[in-house]
Amino acid sequence: MRIVLLGAPGSGKGTQAKKLVERYNIPQISTGDLLREAVAAGSELGKRAKTAMDTGQLVSDDIVLGMIQERLAKPDAKSGFILDGFPRNIPQSQSLDAMLARVGQPIQLSLLVDVDNSVLLKRITGRRSCGSCGAIYNIYFSTPKVPGKCDKCGGTLQHRSDDNEDTVTNRLAVYEEQTAPLMSYYKAQGKLRTVAGVGSISEIFDKMCEVIEAQIRPLATAMKKISEATASAKKAAKAGNAKKAKPKKAAAKKKAAKKKVKKTAAKKTAKKKVKKKLVKKTAAKKKVAKKKTAKKKTAKKKTAKKKVKKKAKKKAAKKKVKKKAKKKAKKKAKRRR
Ligand SMILES: [Zn+2]
Repeated sequence: MRIVLLGAPGSGKGTQAKKLVERYNIPQISTGDLLREAVAAGSELGKRAKTAMDTGQLVSDDIVLGMIQERLAKPDAKSGFILDGFPRNIPQSQSLDAMLARVGQPIQLSLLVDVDNSVLLKRITGRRSCGSCGAIYNIYFSTPKVPGKCDKCGGTLQHRSDDNEDTVTNRLAVYEEQTAPLMSYYKAQGKLRTVAGVGSISEIFDKMCEVIEAQIRPLATAMKKISEATASAKKAAKAGNAKKAKPKKAAAKKKAAKKKVKKTAAKKTAKKKVKKKLVKKTAAKKKVAKKKTAKKKTAKKKTAKKKVKKKAKKKAAKKKVKKKAKKKAKKKAKRRR
């Protein structure tokens, strides 16, 4: 599991990170530790970091990323890691993502331990430590039996000067300014999960483990299934001819399927052709029919005209007959006179 841990100063994420290291057997990668180790070991990146620090400059992101990459190459980081204190801004998270993509170990989960600012303020400003044995107390949450005195050794309890309200408020404001964009960055990737940092250390730890397992188990099981499938496929490939026949059969089936497709396609085109022919035929028939009807019509018209002519002739003939009759009648009348 590859986790980026987010949480304000005083959120207790450092304590939780140590518990996660024990539970899941993965290293916690803190850039502060990496820098110190690299400088002490005098590695190439360590030397570059040292020159930057000696000249009062910030150690560049490239150097820090190089150190993280070297750390991830160690065998204990094979099954994952917990990044704590890095990245702190968007450019850092982008270059971290790019580097992790290159080495094939992308972040799976960004886990935020969320604690209210008022609680954080009390946790930090109320912190007291024994000057003799280093035992830690808090004047709000875990008070010593005698104020200002260590329960264990009776030593005097001390208050760190930079744990005053003004500096703490300022530190929290800086943290919020840095972390808010990071939260939206990982939220956009669907990797941000939040655990409320209230309750006892073990209560918070249990909640964190629940979230981690809910987020990472489905991925892990999916990966396992894939690797099992590929393994069984390899086994099958290694096995004898009997099993080799299967892919052949499959290939034959595919061919047959292709043939079927071709056949059906051919049938379809044949059907289309037939349809076209039919269409042509009907069209031709229609044309013939039209011609026939047209002929009939003209014939009818002609006969009609003929009839008209005949009638006219008949009328004319009748008129002639009538005229002749009239003439005859006139002649008769003349004769009578
Ligand atoms: Zn003490």
